[in-house]
Amino acid sequence: MPRVCLHVRGIVQGVGFRPFVFQRATALGLSGWVKNGKSGVEIEVQGFEEAIETFVRALEVDLPRPGRVFSIARTEAREDAAAEGFSILPSDEREKPAPLVPPDLSVCAACLAESLAPSGRRSGYAFTCCARCGPRYSIIEALPYDRARTSMRVFPRCDDCRREYEDVSDRRFHAEPIACPQCGPRLSLLSPAGERLAEQAEALSLAARELKNGKIVALRGLGGFQLLVDATSPAAVIELRRRKEREEKPFAVLVRDIEAALREALLSEVEIAALTGPEAPIVLARKKLDSTLAEEVAPNNPLVGLLLPATPLHHLLALTVGKPLVCTSGNISGEPLCTDTDEALARLGAIADSFLTHDRPIVRPVDDSVVREGPRQTLTVLRRARGFSPLSVGKLEDTRSILGLGAFLKSTVTLSARGELVTSQHLGDMDDPASIDLLERTARDMCRFFDVRPEIIACDLHPDFASTRLAERLATECGARLVRVQHHHAHIAAVMAEHGLEGEVLGLAWDGYGFGADGQAWGGEALVVSDEGARRVAHLAPFRLPGGDRAAREPRRSALGLLVATLGPTRAFAEMNDLFDAPQANALCAAITSGFSAPETTSVGRLFDAVAALAGLRGKCSFEGQAAMELEWAAETNLSLVEPFPLPLSNDTPAVADLVPLAEALLADRAAGLGAPHLAARLQNTLVELAWKIAERAGLPHVALAGGCFQNVFLARATRERLERAGFSVLAPAAVPVNDGGISVGQVLVASRAPIGQR
Ligand code: ZN
Ligand code: ZN
Ligand code: FE
Repeated sequence: MPRVCLHVRGIVQGVGFRPFVFQRATALGLSGWVKNGKSGVEIEVQGFEEAIETFVRALEVDLPRPGRVFSIARTEAREDAAAEGFSILPSDEREKPAPLVPPDLSVCAACLAESLAPSGRRSGYAFTCCARCGPRYSIIEALPYDRARTSMRVFPRCDDCRREYEDVSDRRFHAEPIACPQCGPRLSLLSPAGERLAEQAEALSLAARELKNGKIVALRGLGGFQLLVDATSPAAVIELRRRKEREEKPFAVLVRDIEAALREALLSEVEIAALTGPEAPIVLARKKLDSTLAEEVAPNNPLVGLLLPATPLHHLLALTVGKPLVCTSGNISGEPLCTDTDEALARLGAIADSFLTHDRPIVRPVDDSVVREGPRQTLTVLRRARGFSPLSVGKLEDTRSILGLGAFLKSTVTLSARGELVTSQHLGDMDDPASIDLLERTARDMCRFFDVRPEIIACDLHPDFASTRLAERLATECGARLVRVQHHHAHIAAVMAEHGLEGEVLGLAWDGYGFGADGQAWGGEALVVSDEGARRVAHLAPFRLPGGDRAAREPRRSALGLLVATLGPTRAFAEMNDLFDAPQANALCAAITSGFSAPETTSVGRLFDAVAALAGLRGKCSFEGQAAMELEWAAETNLSLVEPFPLPLSNDTPAVADLVPLAEALLADRAAGLGAPHLAARLQNTLVELAWKIAERAGLPHVALAGGCFQNVFLARATRERLERAGFSVLAPAAVPVNDGGISVGQVLVASRAPIGQR
């Protein structure tokens, strides 16, 4: 009888794949074996031809969630006359694992039913899981994936759990993290001083009572602590904002089920699928006018970030409380997520009233992911973390080990190992020592995890970023080549990596800030990117930002810079009296004209800020991107009705978009009493028109859109439609964040193509 050898690539480790193979093979009377191999799963089966065909088809189409088969390579194997029975062989320790590791998966329906059942072995148990659901990436210490190499190794299985683990017909067959109240992790409720107030079910019901009473509870979730509070109580939410020192930045809301989500937001099919999928991310959706949520959850914001419970613990708590709960990262603003209980008590002790924690160690912090509906009913990932990390975001032909360390904001680390591009979870902004330490730990963790030593390390061109300094240090330590990659080149390369694009591509990087090849602040760049590198073909005319970095927090500074550059200080001064007092405006005008502490920028993000300030939306921000967000919403009412501002493109190389006519028209509109919706729509249409003009000149078939400004869905959609109408093929990132969360991906692609000798 024929015997074939199958090599299966995909999400096939840690998702119940081997048990599935075992069950199908035995049912079809096939003999042979299955084991986790170096880059996927290896299978040998022997039996009737037809049975083998049925078996292979089953692998492709019947594999239950969240497994996914990317490819099956098939070769003939030598017949074994004595072949009998089918077995699961242990992982071969000498084989190097491919970087295909399952992410943390939300609880499956069967496990949830057991946890919520009034009786049974796992009734009310917060850590129920099986081969198809439960913690993975946040508990795996090393590969191959076995319980002994996870943080569950401190919980020896009881007899009942062992029986399930060994029973081929059980859905817990070979499920590494399984547990029960007898042998598994336990809940406890602690006071901020660390006193143990209650255990297990009692801890949970006490925590629920605290939340009902408007108290703040720190909950140890899958990948770290979260802070919870009643989302329907303005007083409770205001108190959380006060203690967390987070003025207006929106909070996400945990709702108990999809019905509760529909009570708060208008949800499309794509959004519902995202909410209920195994990744269980935060989904940005349109808030209902009669939503029960306190306005303070997301002030002046038509959107709300909703998420469903991802674990039995979250389900039990959300059900017991019975109200939507604010669910935000358990950290001090700017710092990484707390994972250890002691650390949480020390750092969040002044924020939370009590701590609902457990004794299962978290190996690495993994925050909640954030997604939004993108073009054509697809999903766009804005923050890649729990549920997505560390799935591959693309493939490289280059099999060398390349490490990319990102930029400054929304950092991630990307490792290319054996051709697989793996991006770390979101690590936050690199502006405090704890975050920088997390960046280094993550870079080392990923290299160790996938057992590689980087041959090339890529970083930003900015000489003073902590990520750049770390790259320099690691490159020396590993004897790796260091490649510095310009920020917007990386943005565009990330899109190319995700879509597997080759050859010349026009990339439009509409962004906040990136260190330019000439040392200036860039952010409104059109680059032609190819294997040879990047060529700047067009950009916005520069204007100065008084106070440099401070301008990102104060849109009025961008407004002043724009007006001085285009219309001169006298006119600028006259227009600014509602935004600055006279001495302030004078001092900043002087800074701009002298150029001292007022760097030039070509940033589209800062142009958005300038218009937001002049449109009367806001002169100052309490978080990054706030003005741009408000401009986005202001525009939505009449986007298609408004003419673009004039923004002529020069014939230079690179071409420069002249901002003078734009500034003139903007002030004329303002003088005519036209408000924010008009100005915002006009600005967005201007950028759409600019994208088209640049694309016509470049004459390349593919246009890639990247950079933080494309988080604006109206701008992204309108730009795509305009370019597609003109016959261009438009590519935008979906799995890779369009913001700086994607930079490390692009850095790796650029570094893989950099000629030897480039530094
Ligand atoms: Zn399950
Ligand atoms: Zn047990
Ligand atoms: Fe950027």
